[in-house]
This record gives sequence, C-alpha cells and structure tokens, in this order.
Amino acid sequence: MSDRYSRQIMIPEFGEDGQQKLADASVLVIGAGGLGTTLIYHLAAAGVGTIGIADNDIVSLSNLNRQFIHFEEDIGTLKVVSAAKKIRLFNSEIQVIPHATAISKDNAYEIISQYDIVALAVDNAQARMIVNEACVELGTPFVDGGINGFVGTSVFINPHHTPCLACLYGTELPPEERFSAVSSVTGTIASIEATSVIQYILGLEVPLAGKLLYYDAHEADFEQLELKFNKTCPICGGKRANK
Ligand SMILES: [Zn+2]
Repeated sequence: MSDRYSRQIMIPEFGEDGQQKLADASVLVIGAGGLGTTLIYHLAAAGVGTIGIADNDIVSLSNLNRQFIHFEEDIGTLKVVSAAKKIRLFNSEIQVIPHATAISKDNAYEIISQYDIVALAVDNAQARMIVNEACVELGTPFVDGGINGFVGTSVFINPHHTPCLACLYGTELPPEERFSAVSSVTGTIASIEATSVIQYILGLEVPLAGKLLYYDAHEADFEQLELKFNKTCPICGGKRANK
C-alpha cells in the first residue's frame, strides 16, 4: 500500500485492511459547493477509491468565501469539472467521476445505484428528500449535512436500520430559502460527514447513525438528538428491518 496513507494505516481501526476497504469503496458526493468542498477533499485524502460528484451548478465569485475547491480561474466553469480537476491533481491514485446534473426524481436511482454510499452536500430540502427516497428504496446508506450561518447539523441514515429523513422531517417540503454560510462552520459539518462515511466503510460503528448532531458555533456546543421511527412514514414504513 502506498506510503501516502502510512499515517492513518497506523490507526488500529484502519490498518492495511481498512485502507483496502477505502480503496474498494465508491462514494457519491451530491453537491460540489461549500460542504462538498471539504467532503470531497477528505474522502480523496483518505483514499476512497471512487468518488462521484454530482452538481449542475457553475462556479461564481460569491461561492469562493467557502467553496475553496474552486479557484478564481474557475468562475464560469461547471463545479463538477472544477472539482474533478483539483482532485485528480491532489490524488492521482483514485478515480473521480463527474456527473454534471442536478439529482432529480428521474435520475436519482440510476446514479445512486452505481455507488456504495452517498454523502449529501446540498442546501435544499427537495434534493434531500429525493435522495432519501432513492436511498431507502436501494438500501444505500447516506450522510446528510446542513448549515445556516454559525449553526449546522449532520445525520447518518442507514435505511431500515435507522429512521429515515422523512421520519425526521416529514414529507412536506419547506419553502426554498438561501442559507448563509461561513467557510469554517461549513467545513466542520462536512468533516463530520466525511468521518461518518469513513467509519461506515471501515465497518466501524457510526456514532451518528440514526442521530442528528446539532452544532451551534455561537456557544461552541454540540448536541445529539436520537431519531425515532415514524410508524406512518410513507418512505421507509417506519420499521426496522428484521436482520
Ligand atoms: Zn422513514
């Protein structure tokens, strides 16, 4: 195994076996914006063998206060093209697959089914709910993160083993709004998402499985809320699998 990963292979939970699990894993990052920036870098740094990136947005100047995977010269370029270019320069041992599309009801199953796990890095409830439904249907675990200024959340969903996002939020979509974002807080939440993904791939317990982590940077405070199955959830049926 490459010397590149020697400092993490030292960790007993990693080892050569764990590194191989990461190399064999495929993760779809949905969103190449603020959360996506940190997520994609961490997954690439850790040696996740295949990273898909889905986004249809174009880099603009107002992205650069937090989306540091994109540079000034990338303004006007598709975010997936810009992000894939950086990651190929950063780690040439892994495969990066850009999907220049927004995840929709029409393409979610087809794209998500190509990956072992999904990392959500979006800023809208609609995309979250589309991914939640597809992942529950496919049995694909996913991690979600959200930020609003100095506050952020993260949750790890393993369909039919944990409640789903619809158990938590219902299926009624809130009105779309533009959330404020600070690079450092966004990066904190994305780092927590990346750690959950890595723990899952390594076969470790994912402490945020079925739990919503709430981070309030005003107080430097972290809280956890245990998710409960909603027995009338129309997406997952509100039931744990029998295995
Ligand atoms: Zn549910």
